[in-house]
Amino acid sequence: MQTWVIVGGGIQGVTVAIHLLEKNIATLEEITIIDPHDQPLSKWKQMTSRIDMPFLRSSFVHHVSSSPFSLDQFGKKYGEQQKLFLGRYHRPKLTLFNDHCDELIHTHKLENSWYKGTVNGLSKYFNSWQVTLESGETIRTKHIVLALGLSQQPSIPDQLISSKNKGGSIHHIFEEELNLDRLHPPMTIVGGGITAAHTAISLSNKYPGHVTLLKRHPFRVHSFDSDPGWLGPKNMHRFLKLTDYQQRRKSIFDARHRGSITRELYLKLRKREKTGELTIQTADISAVSIDEDKTITMMDEERDLIHKTRNVICCTGFHSSMPGGTWLQHVIQQYSLPCAQCGYPIVSKSLMWDDCLYVAGPLAELEVGPVARNISGAQKAAAKITANH
Ligand SMILES: Cc1cc2nc3c(=O)[nH]c(=O)nc-3n(C[C@H](O)[C@H](O)[C@H](O)COP(=O)(O)OP(=O)(O)OC[C@H]3O[C@@H](n4cnc5c(N)ncnc54)[C@H](O)[C@@H]3O)c2cc1C
Repeated sequence: MQTWVIVGGGIQGVTVAIHLLEKNIATLEEITIIDPHDQPLSKWKQMTSRIDMPFLRSSFVHHVSSSPFSLDQFGKKYGEQQKLFLGRYHRPKLTLFNDHCDELIHTHKLENSWYKGTVNGLSKYFNSWQVTLESGETIRTKHIVLALGLSQQPSIPDQLISSKNKGGSIHHIFEEELNLDRLHPPMTIVGGGITAAHTAISLSNKYPGHVTLLKRHPFRVHSFDSDPGWLGPKNMHRFLKLTDYQQRRKSIFDARHRGSITRELYLKLRKREKTGELTIQTADISAVSIDEDKTITMMDEERDLIHKTRNVICCTGFHSSMPGGTWLQHVIQQYSLPCAQCGYPIVSKSLMWDDCLYVAGPLAELEVGPVARNISGAQKAAAKITANH
């Protein structure tokens, strides 16, 4: 029997595993990470490389180790020759961040605890949990951590779905099978947030003058996707005092700067607009049609033309419905696991949902707060889960 099974080997799951190892709570042999990909952090690396993101949005203290300055110290090995951190928050370069993750994964030999597969069931077995995989295999464990991300749930606006189904070249930037190199301009990026901004910069580099960024609101400029006060007691003290989980959900919703970008990206986009490399349009798409020659036409509420294009790339985030789908709903029903009205878990301070069943990432949102989905949220989740061991 395993001691710890972690379902999901993204930023959240890997951070929990590394904290368990660094704090000597478990040995490598006692940990299994189950994930359908070949390697840890596959989704993270795929998504960030697809949009050509050069620097992270978060600061240098947010990473997968339990040691606060681990990334900073790792950066010193590179010497002075490269610009490794950006701006007043010392946001790390993506390559540095990934190299740091890889070094920790390698040092801790996490590949030895990697189990490729997809979990589709969970049941109690005496004093332990039994995890079932799609392959039919089962693994027993004392502790289980659900670190399922939202990246499996890309969201395309309803107005665009029917034209996509009719064969229009309409894609979500994080669709597994999307190959941007196979698309020929003109290209239209739909979205106004940081993913849209990176994608617009990257594609307008490749195809200057043939890329449009279409967003439905003026740019929202914020350094982070929620106020830094949510990282500590300043805002979290009040949040954790809320006993009504609907209010906690509302606080999370209000706190998030959805669809926002950093000032540095804002300036880059405006510069590209000035030089004519990128067109920026603000309009709310209400209807979309597709011609026989596959031209996609977008219209507003009055059926006035907004824009015509050949390719649409939606940078419109993920469905916020709870990850896990039907198998997790089944577990919730079978063991009467407590959930708030929004469907998300109500968990203890140590993120325990039931005996030795823990959550991290979006599933831990109602206890970790608005930063739960981020790297800082992964650090908080890992710290809380490991605190009493
Ligand atoms: C482009 C981009 C840039 C970002 N930049 C930053 C940033 O700079 N700073 C920051 O703090 N945050 C950032 N984020 C937000 C967040 O930190 C990342 O999205 C992060 O990758 C989320 O990690 P995760 O582990 O929750 O999810 P994922 O990366 O989705 O990993 C979850 C894993 O669980 C697996 N899984 C799901 N269901 C099952 C199952 N049933 N069985 C087995 N495995 C399963 C999935 O296949 C996946 O591999 C960014 C997000 C994006 C999209």
